[in-house]
Amino acid sequence: MSNRDRSRELYRRACEVMPAGVNSPVRAFRSVGGDPLFYERGVGCHIIDADGNRFIDYIGSWGPLILGHADPDVVEAVATTAASGLSFGAPCRQEVELAELVTSAVPHLEMVRFVSSGTEAVMSAVRLARGATGRDTVVKFSGCYHGHADHLLVSGGSGLATFGTPSSAGVPESFAAHTAVLPLDDEEAFLNLMEERGGEIAAVIIEGVPANSGLLVQRPEYMRLMREQCTSYGALLILDEVITGFRLGSNGAAGHYGIEPDLATYGKVIGGGMPVGAYGGRRELMEQLAPLGPVYQAGTLSGNPVAMAAGAATLRRLLADGGAAYAELDTLGQLLQSGFQEVLSRLGIEWSVVRAGSILWLALQEGDPPLRFENSRPESAETYAALHGALLDRGVSLAPSAYEVMFVSLAHNPGVIDETVEAFAGAVEAIV
Ligand code: PMP
Repeated sequence: MSNRDRSRELYRRACEVMPAGVNSPVRAFRSVGGDPLFYERGVGCHIIDADGNRFIDYIGSWGPLILGHADPDVVEAVATTAASGLSFGAPCRQEVELAELVTSAVPHLEMVRFVSSGTEAVMSAVRLARGATGRDTVVKFSGCYHGHADHLLVSGGSGLATFGTPSSAGVPESFAAHTAVLPLDDEEAFLNLMEERGGEIAAVIIEGVPANSGLLVQRPEYMRLMREQCTSYGALLILDEVITGFRLGSNGAAGHYGIEPDLATYGKVIGGGMPVGAYGGRRELMEQLAPLGPVYQAGTLSGNPVAMAAGAATLRRLLADGGAAYAELDTLGQLLQSGFQEVLSRLGIEWSVVRAGSILWLALQEGDPPLRFENSRPESAETYAALHGALLDRGVSLAPSAYEVMFVSLAHNPGVIDETVEAFAGAVEAIV
């Protein structure tokens, strides 16, 4: 095993001053064991830790780094903009440019508002949906994560549709009671709920492609049914494109399924690695926001010029040449998927490698990959922990949780993908 002394020492200091030494729970490696690595530098598809160990990175900061680490155009945009001031708390050119890029790329976005995280985007979109419909109930799906706003930290029970129970301490039962939780991939449960309570529902929210409990690619006809039902009951469909927006294509998961949500939420890629979120939709809905309308939402750092410039530099690259970047990302994703699949079939292991464009997930279980969170096998988490460690030892960094996906960037190339597949073969052989 490589030397990890500096990371270990930083972790010791971090644990004295930050809970579990981290600022976001999964980073603490609790579900894979061992100590987290502390990183010093990212270059293209590589990330380098405090001890100088170099890894091929498939976390990509959990999705934003679609161009790779420290992309020269993004760094240049950030440096140039920063030199003219870090924040004005007032309108600036950069936010207009990013808003124009986003609204011209996504047909159902007539207007957007920028915020500073995916959580904020979703929280604000839900408030807007409630304000616009005058209804309180929100429907979410089990296994989908939408950030840590109180009313979305809710889990369902084992029944078909359950009114939620808080999935975190500190969330009042009375908040969770406004959130209904349904299983994914289940038309009947959805139709029953709509029939019973459709008239009370402000919004149905679903991840573009659910990617926080494995990669649970939903059937297009299911998504279309959801769209139709929301329209007939006057509920708004919110597509949470925080992961999929500008990742699956210029029109994200909406384009993938051929549906138009009423509101869509963004984060990650849209900020190119800087703290940015956004939500948007039709003009008449967005004009319900203060100061035009009664729904309040604000932010000191919203539309921050440096963050906007990073996002715009990223989107310009992705949208150039009719979106050629997405074909490249798809090819790279395919290469990694088929490389992993070949290793598995050579070793006679029946795991699945699920993929949507440049998002991949290793479903370490036999049989068809799950479409519902309830069908994921918890025991695969142990195998994943071993695989994660064995891959780190071989210079490949995967997310420290069995339920997280892998992100391929434009900075990856067939050579590093071959290296990854070789490391994967060694790691799998070492652990099974
Ligand atoms: N929605 C989805 C689909 C997400 O994956 C995430 C974060 N991974 C969020 C919302 C919350 O975004 P953030 O972490 O930027 O608050």
